[in-house]
Amino acid sequence: MQTLSERDQAVIWHPFTQMQTAPLPISITRGEGAVLYDEAGNQYIDAISSWWVNLHGHAHPYIAERVSAQLRTLEHVIFAGFTHQPAVELAERLLPILPNHQAKVFYSDNGSTAVEVALKMAFQYWHNIGQPRTKVIALDDAYHGDTFGAMAVGGRSAFTAPFTPFLFEVDYIPAPVPGREEEALAKLEALLDDNVAAFIFEPLVQGAGGMVMYQPEILNKLMQLARSAGALLIADEVMTGFGRTGRLFASHHLTEQPDLMCLSKGLTGGTMALGVTTCAQAIYDAFLSDDKFKTLFHGHSFTANPLACTAALASLDLTLSDETQRNIQRIASRHEHFTQVLQRYGCVRNIRQQGTILAFDLATSGQTSYFNNIRDIAYNFLLERSVLMRPLGNVLYILPPYCMTDEQLTYVYAQIEDLLKTL
Ligand SMILES: *Cc1c(COP(=O)(O)O)cnc(C)c1O
Repeated sequence: MQTLSERDQAVIWHPFTQMQTAPLPISITRGEGAVLYDEAGNQYIDAISSWWVNLHGHAHPYIAERVSAQLRTLEHVIFAGFTHQPAVELAERLLPILPNHQAKVFYSDNGSTAVEVALKMAFQYWHNIGQPRTKVIALDDAYHGDTFGAMAVGGRSAFTAPFTPFLFEVDYIPAPVPGREEEALAKLEALLDDNVAAFIFEPLVQGAGGMVMYQPEILNKLMQLARSAGALLIADEVMTGFGRTGRLFASHHLTEQPDLMCLSKGLTGGTMALGVTTCAQAIYDAFLSDDKFKTLFHGHSFTANPLACTAALASLDLTLSDETQRNIQRIASRHEHFTQVLQRYGCVRNIRQQGTILAFDLATSGQTSYFNNIRDIAYNFLLERSVLMRPLGNVLYILPPYCMTDEQLTYVYAQIEDLLKTL
């Protein structure tokens, strides 16, 4: 009999996967807490929250119960001309916990669409007020998603090369990592003019770009500068939202406030696909008119899906609980302690931490890139020891669900140390 993995290979094309050389995918049959179980009964500690989405553990009974009840009440309804309790309640509960000035919630399906919506809101804002602006400024090595608009504002790389001719023009400044702050500021200053519609950034942590981290002070300065030229500020908190950086949102580390925000991933606790774009009142107001052409003509079939909104509400209950808040601080301080341990290893470079995210580079001889084979060595070594991590090239990082126990964390750290000893 064929295994599920073999049946998969016959019919499925996986994301970010070279199907010719990829090993058979591991078939996961269930999950509980931070642990995944495969067909053969093997366990894996999910140290990357299943691509940064999971907050409270897999198959969380409280979220399951809430979604299940919603499923028997209202599974979906068109969101133009209609509304429903979960969508309204989620918006009512999100706005007060976001940075000031976020006044309206627009729903979509995922992180990329949340970014698309933010970009369309920004461009059309300028269009609607009769002062069209066409340029966006972004950070080098940014990642904002895989749809065309989101790809356009992301860092240009081997991943985007086939599409370069189709991506709109974006200007880049260096990520303002320690030592490059002045350079980033100077470059931004040089690029700003009255054609810049928006400045988009992943606040404090650039995820897919390699868990690149920078300080709130320099981001405040960049935001101030961009705003002085009128640019709208888009904080892409798709990854950093919901506690990852130690605060509820990375923007809470800032004194400056974004005009638009993008949320997804942890929004539903990692249960279901949902995207949110929020905006300041002034942006919303620019779309109010007797003129129908000032409407935001954007929507998805599953906009504000009631099941996803319910999952988000349930996840929010858990996120705001004392227990989760304590867990976030616990993981952050365990990470902090582990950074001391990491410093003893010669092959470890550039150790960095922001809240529950810990990252470092593995020093390698030769080329360092996503395609570096140290990535495969580390990935396989850890997987064989029941730890799911997925290095970004030579960047190893832990981004755990908040329910990960001290025992599990200790185990993960120990496997990482064993890996480092072999390098
Ligand atoms: C993952 C990610 C996205 C894209 O989200 P998807 O749901 O994968 O489309 C956008 N921005 C950031 C910062 C992300 O980490």
